[in-house]
Amino acid sequence: MGYQWTDFTLFVLLFILFVSVIAFNRITQTHKVYLAFHFIMMLWPLGQFAIKMTDFPEIQLLFINMSFVAMGMLGPGWLIFVFFLTGRAAQLKAGRLLVYILPAALCVVGALWNPNELFMSPISGNYLNRLYGPLFWMLVLIQFAYFFTALMNMFHSLKTVSSVNQRKQLATALIGMFVLTGFGLLDVLINVLLAQWLPVIPGLLALGILLSDVCFVIAIYRFGMFDILSMAQRDIFEHMTTGIIVVDENGKVLEVNRAASPFVQSVKGENFEMEKLLAPLQAQGEVYEFLYRYNHHPYEKMQMEFSLHESAGRHVSIQISPVLDNRKTLLGRIITFHDVTELRKLVVEMNRKNEALHERNLELITIQEELFRVNQKLEQMAVTDGLTGCFNRRYLMQQLEHEVLLNMRYQIPFAIFLFDIDHFKQINDRFGHLVGDEVIRSTADIVRTKLRRTDILARYGGEEFTIYLPHTNREQAELLAERIMLAVGENWVDAGSERVRVTISMGVLSESSEDLNFDDPKEYLREVFSGADSALYKAKDGGRNRVVMAR
Ligand code: GH3
Ligand code: MG
Ligand code: MG
Repeated sequence: MGYQWTDFTLFVLLFILFVSVIAFNRITQTHKVYLAFHFIMMLWPLGQFAIKMTDFPEIQLLFINMSFVAMGMLGPGWLIFVFFLTGRAAQLKAGRLLVYILPAALCVVGALWNPNELFMSPISGNYLNRLYGPLFWMLVLIQFAYFFTALMNMFHSLKTVSSVNQRKQLATALIGMFVLTGFGLLDVLINVLLAQWLPVIPGLLALGILLSDVCFVIAIYRFGMFDILSMAQRDIFEHMTTGIIVVDENGKVLEVNRAASPFVQSVKGENFEMEKLLAPLQAQGEVYEFLYRYNHHPYEKMQMEFSLHESAGRHVSIQISPVLDNRKTLLGRIITFHDVTELRKLVVEMNRKNEALHERNLELITIQEELFRVNQKLEQMAVTDGLTGCFNRRYLMQQLEHEVLLNMRYQIPFAIFLFDIDHFKQINDRFGHLVGDEVIRSTADIVRTKLRRTDILARYGGEEFTIYLPHTNREQAELLAERIMLAVGENWVDAGSERVRVTISMGVLSESSEDLNFDDPKEYLREVFSGADSALYKAKDGGRNRVVMAR
């Protein structure tokens, strides 16, 4: 390998660097495709020029090869670039891309390989003049096929694109395409087909390439093809309501937007001083911590809210986020300012309203509890008797209608006691109504102590009571009735200076499970009470202070 290759290797290395800078930096895909395409276009005239600078056939061949590689790639380059131009780049999947490049790549391989000089042959050992073979014509043909496809694509898009700007862009590029195709045809015609008869006109294709690229450049610059995104970003940045300052890793301001000016006076190129901004707030511990983190932990995202005293108590939320590259190296930081005064006010107002609502709720709950208690009381009053606290007759009858049905359904024996205080009139007359009331009350209390929780004691009227006892047979009923009668008899009630003894007479009706059969519970209950009443009457008749079993 000769020394000259050292320089060439260095050139290749530099070229690789150039390509990688373009490939790996943040420019648009369209930029990248255009630059690659532009580079290919540059190679043709360079190669054509270089061939003529040397008499060494091998070196001439090298440059010829370079030219034809460039020319071979021109067709697919155009086609792919047209996809970007017409905004259909997303359709270019890897498989489709390969199909587009393959014919051109095969031609390029054919040209480089040049089997049996089928592509071209030097005339008298010199490549300055050369004869072209069938492979060359195939390359030319395929190139025109590419151009034709690209043209069709552009025409089609021109019809469907609605944006005026994009249509102008396309039209300009279309002119470029025609110019290139025209000059290419002219070059083949004059410099290849009619070369023997006409003088060679150098640089026809190169001129075509240049003119078509001029059209491109016009399309790019006049219609803002590449700039639309960055212009939009610039616009958003300038007009957003959030204040933004971008600083480098040392805190130098790289970019600052208009919305940042009410919060901080920062100038591009100067240092952004967080200490100065927060100086009026130094006293607060939270601010110290924020400043410490800002200075010592540049990789952290942080946020703080503070009030600017100079601007009439505005609340500002300041947010800091690091800007990192792919390898997580700190490039700079973005500092945003957001006026949250209205939000704060709303939150305070909301909290106040919430508190008021909470208080009102508590009041309502108290009222509700009170209502519940009153309701319970009312319900109880509706079913009980005020003097004795026993259930009233209405409640008893209501319950019994339900109970007797259950007893019939499940064959449950039960008993009904009906008792009346003996000679009560006399008590009233001797001691007065108040003592009479006391006698009634205390008699009910005594009776209640002898009952189960499932039994129902009700005041039937005046000084007459009823007891309903479910699950009670005749023997049990009789035994209990006697026990109640005795208990009442042992009860002495205070009547001023004296004490009164009270007795009761009782009629007991016991219903066994076998006899339970009726259609109308109301009618049945009338019979039951009539039976108990007769028994009570018999007890009175028989001398009082006794129990009489019905039937
Ligand atoms: P008997 O042994 O036959 O039952 O005689 P008695 O005097 O108890 O007669 P009766 O049962 O007919 O008398 C009921 C009396 O009870 C009539 C009424 O003035 C009185 N009375 C009814 N309800 C009350 C009441 O709530 N309080 C008071 N103090 N007396 C009442
Ligand atoms: Mg009585
Ligand atoms: Mg009575």
